[in-house]
Amino acid sequence: MALSGIQIFSFLPKSNCKECGAATCLAFAMNLAANKVQLEQCPHLTPEARNSLAQASAPPIRRVEVGTGPARAVLGEETVLFRHEKTFNHPPLLAAGLEDNRPDWENRLNSWREQQWERVGLSLRPEMVFLTCASQEAGQFQAVAQKAAELDFALALQGSAEILAQVLPSLASARPLLCAAQEDNWEIMADLALQYRCPLLLRGRGTEALAGLSGKLRQRGGQDLVLDAQTRTLAQTLASNVTLRRAALLDKNQGLGLPIINFASVAGGDPAAEVMAASLMICKYASIIVLSDFKRESLFPLLLLRLNLFTDPQRPMTMPQGIYPIGNPGPDSPVFVTTNFSLTYFIVNGEIENARYPAWLLIMDTEGLSVLTAWAAGKFVGDTIGAFVKKSGIEEKIKHRQIIIPGYVSGIKSELKEALPDWRITVGPREASRVPQFLREWNLQQNDAN
Ligand code: SF4
Repeated sequence: MALSGIQIFSFLPKSNCKECGAATCLAFAMNLAANKVQLEQCPHLTPEARNSLAQASAPPIRRVEVGTGPARAVLGEETVLFRHEKTFNHPPLLAAGLEDNRPDWENRLNSWREQQWERVGLSLRPEMVFLTCASQEAGQFQAVAQKAAELDFALALQGSAEILAQVLPSLASARPLLCAAQEDNWEIMADLALQYRCPLLLRGRGTEALAGLSGKLRQRGGQDLVLDAQTRTLAQTLASNVTLRRAALLDKNQGLGLPIINFASVAGGDPAAEVMAASLMICKYASIIVLSDFKRESLFPLLLLRLNLFTDPQRPMTMPQGIYPIGNPGPDSPVFVTTNFSLTYFIVNGEIENARYPAWLLIMDTEGLSVLTAWAAGKFVGDTIGAFVKKSGIEEKIKHRQIIIPGYVSGIKSELKEALPDWRITVGPREASRVPQFLREWNLQQNDAN
């Protein structure tokens, strides 16, 4: 939403009826500006106000959806040039190119589907297959596309208009990206995209050609477009991406305010160069990046880079509050408590796992703040931790009454003791890296005591 809260407020009825859930129209406007609510939640907007607001607040880069079900992805809707200005909204899709006449196409698809990692509570995996009809046989093309869709990949389908017309009756429900409209076929491709309600790739050499073609397609009714500037080198690709993003955001050029596709093969055939190219494309400003293959060693760093860049810095990643058993702990196992900032959880969890001593990890909801920040904000202090421990249910799982707090908040030990008078409070290490040593010593002490 590009409008400010005050600008949105000028379109609202100003009756403060509260039906949208906000106390006032101004509060609703502020929430709308912050993307916390939807325009539809106000039932009293006139159609004119709704239209004006929808148009005025449309993002400078159009929202385009590809795929359906688990493969559904949103492209576009970016509003800033630099991530530190606000946030980047939709991570680029990582796609692998595939020709339908490869004898190993099924093995490739299956192996790509297995490439998946769990990280900070998220499942990381590549999302798209860019399928080219090299066989010139609609049946073969359709079979490969169908298999990719069954494996939850979004599809980009590259073929002649005749081939696409044959496969779309059965594949359109997967909402594939149709590839591609260019100067010599844009009318027939636009008609296919409109008939089957699919997004369309638009190819032109350079921004002027793209702007011209985009204008013609939009006049014909095609709106869900993705741009391919047909660059040949990495330098050209980056220059083109920056030009397109600036044209959309600074010049408000609607014809160029569309998601961009890049091909990492512009870096040449070297796999390492392709990864470097893809990493630059993630940073600036591709919405789909087509790789020649999904290899674990190159995919994982790209997925991590993407995760880091497209995580909203204004919304910390969090873990659900609760008890996390690590290594099958029992009633005598130690109990740690820390905050629900995802990074804190995964670092502490990893160090306990490394130590190979089973333990209970209590994760307390501090709205995603790390230990010291949560303490400074009064969210991770004696009273709050005490109340959380009592209601967490940990007392039913253990025989002892001993809890280990992070070393950085050793100062809360006495106040936590007041909140948990039956418990022994132990100050753990400041750094998670010292948890394994701490656990070894803790277990030795327990053994001696027994
Ligand atoms: S429902 Fe509409 S009119 Fe009522 S308070 Fe919310 S924004 Fe205002």
